[in-house]
Amino acid sequence: MTDPAERKMRFLYALRSKGVTDSRVLTAMENIDRGDFVRGIFTDRAYEDMPLPIACGQTISQPSVVGLMTQALQVSPRDKVLEVGTGSGYQAAILSLLARRVYTIDRHRRLVREAEKVFATLDLTNITAIAGDGSHGLPDQAPFDRIIVTAAAEDPPGPLLAQLRIGGIMVLPVGQSDTVQSLIKVTRTPQGYEYEELRPVRFVPLVEGLAQD
Ligand code: SAH
Repeated sequence: MTDPAERKMRFLYALRSKGVTDSRVLTAMENIDRGDFVRGIFTDRAYEDMPLPIACGQTISQPSVVGLMTQALQVSPRDKVLEVGTGSGYQAAILSLLARRVYTIDRHRRLVREAEKVFATLDLTNITAIAGDGSHGLPDQAPFDRIIVTAAAEDPPGPLLAQLRIGGIMVLPVGQSDTVQSLIKVTRTPQGYEYEELRPVRFVPLVEGLAQD
């Protein structure tokens, strides 16, 4: 068993070597312990740069991908952020240290409940977790300064584009679930939307409707 300080140093080194260089993002990832979001037999691997299984057949993303997406989102302390795909809650927890307010939605009630417990334990009080179909966004709370989607759709969902504030940024994987997906950064300008392709990624698919569990 490696000592926690050394483990953390290695974790941060791996992030930097994969291109996560933004100091605010690195500090947030230093302060949120990924081990709090991984259960059972996989807890030992929480500090490795790989995705891991969580409940409901879903995955907690690879830390370097979380870091690169968070960095691309350019979150500022006054931002209201929407995350689609709560999963373990790890990404939302990191965002909560960088933003004013985070809304996170998942179609599995169980994942939302479990993530809420971790947020409470860590005293992350600026996160609201909601069970629902995130592809419709959250019209009541729109517009958002930043939107991050952590499940892959074929195209950016229209309601999410519409709920992005002018000047806002959305980061999301697009493409078919079992083939190559691209991480895309969308910036809303007064004239429309600008798209930038960042890198190939692999995420679970964005699925319509609320799940049974
Ligand atoms: N961000 C998460 C990882 C997300 S995995 C983390 O930090 O751990 C992708 C998640 O998207 C899964 O939990 C899945 O249930 C959820 N998801 C898929 N389609 C969805 C939809 N339409 N609305 C909300 N959540 C969805």
